[in-house]
Order: sequence, then C-alpha cells, then structure tokens
Amino acid sequence: MSRAIRGASDHVVVVGAGLAGLSAALHLAGRGRRVTVVERRPWPGGRAGRLDLDGYRIDTGPTVLTMPDIIDDVFAAVGETRSSRLDLLPVEPAYRAAFADGSCLDVHSDQERMTAAITEFAGQEQAAGYRRLRAWLTHLYRIEFDGFIAANFESPLSLLTPALARLAAIGGFRNWDSMVKRHITNDRLRRVFTFQSLYAGVAPHNALAAYAVIAYMDTIAGVYFPHGGMRALPDAMAAAAADAGVRFCYGSTVTKLDNATGRITAVHTEQGERIPCDAVVLTTELPHTYALLGRTPRRLRALRPSPSAVVVHVGCRQISPPTRHHTILFGAAWHQTFTDIIDHGRLMSDPSLLVTRPTASDSSLAPAGRDLLYLLAPAPNLGNGIVDWSDGGRRYADDIVETVRRRLAADLADDAEVLEVVTPADWARQGMVAGTPFALAHTFGQTGPFRPANTVRGIDNAVLAGSSTVPGVGVPTALISGRLAADRITGLVARPTTHLDLKAQKA
Ligand SMILES: Cc1cc2nc3c(=O)[nH]c(=O)nc-3n(C[C@H](O)[C@H](O)[C@H](O)COP(=O)(O)OP(=O)(O)OC[C@H]3O[C@@H](n4cnc5c(N)ncnc54)[C@H](O)[C@@H]3O)c2cc1C
Repeated sequence: MSRAIRGASDHVVVVGAGLAGLSAALHLAGRGRRVTVVERRPWPGGRAGRLDLDGYRIDTGPTVLTMPDIIDDVFAAVGETRSSRLDLLPVEPAYRAAFADGSCLDVHSDQERMTAAITEFAGQEQAAGYRRLRAWLTHLYRIEFDGFIAANFESPLSLLTPALARLAAIGGFRNWDSMVKRHITNDRLRRVFTFQSLYAGVAPHNALAAYAVIAYMDTIAGVYFPHGGMRALPDAMAAAAADAGVRFCYGSTVTKLDNATGRITAVHTEQGERIPCDAVVLTTELPHTYALLGRTPRRLRALRPSPSAVVVHVGCRQISPPTRHHTILFGAAWHQTFTDIIDHGRLMSDPSLLVTRPTASDSSLAPAGRDLLYLLAPAPNLGNGIVDWSDGGRRYADDIVETVRRRLAADLADDAEVLEVVTPADWARQGMVAGTPFALAHTFGQTGPFRPANTVRGIDNAVLAGSSTVPGVGVPTALISGRLAADRITGLVARPTTHLDLKAQKA
C-alpha cells in the first residue's frame, strides 16, 4: 500500500503541463480534487513539444508512441474514452531496421508476421529464437508492470517482494544484451531488441535486463501515432482535464512556493499570481524542483544524466520511394557508438540514427507534395561532452542529412531544407540538466526505489512527478508517474471506468 501525504488535499496545484502533469491533473480531477495546472508555456505538452514553421507542423519531442492502454487509463480517470478524444493510428511496421550492409528488416508487432520476416532475414533458427525471446519479454513485462513500473516504493526494502524473486529468476538483474543473446545470435537482429537501451541512457552491454521491457513496448505492444501529430496527445489530455473542471494557467512560471513549517501553502508565479493550495505536484526538472522546495539533497550532484540527442527537422519534396514512418539506420559500428557518446563524450564516429517521417501517417503535417523528416542522432550530454555547439549544430546537421541521403533517401539532398536543429546546448537553454532531454540515466543505482523518490522528506504535501523521478523517462512512464503522484495525494483508489461511474461517484 503506497503512503499518502498528510492533511487536506482538496485543492492541488500541478506545476507543469507536460505529460506527467496532465496525467496527474486528470487522475486527481477524477478523484474529486480541485486542480489548477500552472504552465510556463502557452500550451500543454512540455517535452512533447511543437513548432509550426512554413506550413510544417513539427513535433519536437517524442515520436515513438507505445502502450495505448496506459493512455486509455488516463482518459478513464475522468470517465472518458481515449477514442472520443484522440485518433490513434497503428504504425505498421513499427520500424524498419536498415543496416550498414544494405540489408533491412521490418519490425512487426504481430508474432506471425515478425517470425516470417526474421525467417527470411536470418533463417529459421533465429526465428525460433525470436519466439522464445518474445515469450521472455512478455513474461518480463507482466512481472514488472504492476510490481515495479506502476508502483510507488517506500524504500529499497519495499522491493523485497515475491515479484522481485520472480524478476531475478527470469534474469531481470542480468545484462540486457546477454539475455537477448541467449535467444538470438545474429548480431544485426540482436540490435533490434537491444538498441532501446539508449532510451534508458545506458549501453546494451551495461544495461539491466529488466529494462528490456522497453523492447517489449517497442516490438511487441505496438507503435502508434496520433492523427494531427504527437501534440494531439497533450492537447486531448488538456481538453479532457478542462472539461473535468481543471483550471489551466498558461504562460505562468512558478518562481516560489510558500512553505509553512513543512507544508506548501501557496504557489507564486513570475506574473504576480499567488495560488493557495492544499498540496502541490511538481513536474519541473529536478534541481529546479529542489530549489523551489528550498532543498539541496546530498545526492543531487552525483546523479548521472542520460546521453542527449541532436534533432534535425527537415522539409523536402515527397520522398520516393517513400520511407517507413520510423527507420533505424544502424551504422556498421555498434559498441563504439556507445563508447563514443557515453564514455568519450564525442559524436558517433559511425552514426546510428532514428529517422521518422510523420507524414507517412498524416500528410497534413507538411504542405501539399512535401514530406517532414525528424532525424534524431544520439549525442553526448554537456556533462561529459567535448563537442562545441557554438555553430548551432549546423555542420553536424548537414552531416546527418548527408548520411540519410546516402543510406536511405537518395533524392533528399537537392531540395531538402533544414527547418530547425536542436542541440544539447539548446536543451540546456530550456533548463534541462546537462543538456539532455532524457533526464537521469536508468542505471541500477537510479532505478526504482534508488531513483529520486516522488515524496520529499520533511515536506508533507509536495509530490514529484515526471522523468527525473519514478518510474522514469518516456511517454508511458511520464503518464504513469502522474498517476503515482495522484496516488501519493489521495491514496490508492479503484479507478472509475465509465463516464457514468464517475458522475455517480461525484454525485
Ligand atoms: C527529443 C525527444 C525525443 C523523445 N523521444 C521519445 C520517444 O520516442 N518515446 C517516448 O516514450 N519518449 C520520448 N521522449 C521522452 C518523453 O518525451 C519525456 O520523458 C516526457 O515527455 C517527459 O514528460 P514530463 O511531464 O516528465 O516533463 P516535461 O514534458 O518537461 O514537463 C514539464 C513541464 O513543466 C513546465 N515547467 C517547468 N518549469 C516550470 C515552472 N517553473 N513553472 C511552470 N511550468 C514549468 C515545462 O514547461 C513543461 O511543460 C523524448 C523526449 C525528447 C525531448
């Protein structure tokens, strides 16, 4: 049973309208709390950001959307259904994996289609290994979801449950790469089930196998894309929250909290507003959160940030032949890629890139006859990085576009226009620690009960949410962290499943 805050919680102020803040607001409103969301930007979404340029509607943050049932839960919290707010399109195949030797594999979430694709790509033995790996990943997910990912921890001791023994028994505390190797020996194929460790900020050969659950989300649970772009998700959540009575204050930056002997009594904004509250949910970046709370935890400086990324947004004539919605362009190098970024703080010598073409699913995101590309290159963060970003990343952006032209889309270069480049220096300017948008790396010491907790010692009514706290980085996890924050405020409650249930509960 997770511990709830003490005292009244009738009016909750949520700082930040990113996915974690929106999720917290929806869960709290659904449980009958009065909620005010204070957001410094003019719109919701936070890192799930947006940029409108020359007729292109650009998503600046996440592109790979998984686990729609977690999105369902967020809408169900206020008695709504996801489908009445959001048109979620399946992305099929989920990815195309394109290798340096010219070979390709389409990654299907359907077991039979994927088995057939692997048989053709690497033979029957690897296909049989894939089926075993799929069963293992599914088992891993089932053990982890309720027991670890979607649970609040009181202390490392609270980890000591039967689920922990089950997780250990299936190899969750071994190494991700070596667990996958038990089933799949083909080097190229193995990358398809391990590259996701970079999302957790760790190289596959150093990552806990428990994090292979991200490979479950990516390769088994299915990948989706909202009609209208990723921004449609926060827009839909904010609209549902507003209809459930949540008040939004956009363009309002929180600068100070009133702290009366261990309770936050009000939130102050730069714009001069003082908003009294019974409890507060903070989804701000960790050092900023602690500064607002007047705390300097000893651990803060020792925390290890994830690697960062350079994102290049490109507009171009419609690509022919059309590329998939998501393509992972793997370089020939692999271990070296992680060594370059994580150990040496330099650019990848042989880049592996995520190339997303959102116009593959929704052509309205670009002007007629044009495509929009989102090119993501993992990069060192500013903590250990030795890269000079003073040219705004233009030279590196040109290199990235050239790699994509050479390896994926031959007709790209002649009319491709680089619309925007975002470097680690830009993420830092937005207030992100060490210039990484991916918060703290998911090392063992920054996982579960060892990650900065969502409660604050000595302050009774402040709860943290978002990627720096539990469970961690990513869209599904941010949504879950909002729910975990709500649980801290109200205690665990049974979730209403229909609008009628909710109305009955409020009556
Ligand atoms: C380039 C990029 C690619 C990504 N790719 C993926 C992906 O493919 N799949 C995936 O699952 N995840 C991906 N992620 C990660 C995912 O987007 C994040 O983990 C998630 O969106 C974080 O949500 P959050 O609510 O924790 O934080 P945020 O989105 O940062 O929300 C915090 C909010 O608080 C506001 N705020 C901050 N300070 C104040 C203040 N003082 N006063 C008022 N408001 C304040 C901010 O403006 C922001 O809106 C990606 C992220 C980025 C940036």
